[in-house]
Amino acid sequence: MAELVHTNPSEPDNSSSPQQPLTYDEVSEPQFAELAVASFTVEEHEGMTILTGPCPRCGRVFRFPVAAEVFRGPEEEGEEILVYCLSSADFAARPPDRTGCGAYWRLNLV
Ligand SMILES: [Zn+2]
Repeated sequence: MAELVHTNPSEPDNSSSPQQPLTYDEVSEPQFAELAVASFTVEEHEGMTILTGPCPRCGRVFRFPVAAEVFRGPEEEGEEILVYCLSSADFAARPPDRTGCGAYWRLNLV
């Protein structure tokens, strides 16, 4: 079923707000990983690796905990992990059991 979404033409153009209204959508773009690598920080905390940074899609900063066993595999070559937005903001059409705006991407932890 198609759904029409109306935009309000009389809405003032608030150029001081960089964040556009977003609908939850499970999408991955090649630049997501590039942007995340450039902007995310990695810290270790009590055996957990925690990635912190702005979501490449919605721009909201979130923390993504990575279990230690994920990146300390038997190989010494690092591990590819799937990272997804955990922003606590509300997004239209988001399923109740999901968190974030739906963006996901893959990163290599070394
Ligand atoms: Zn997001």
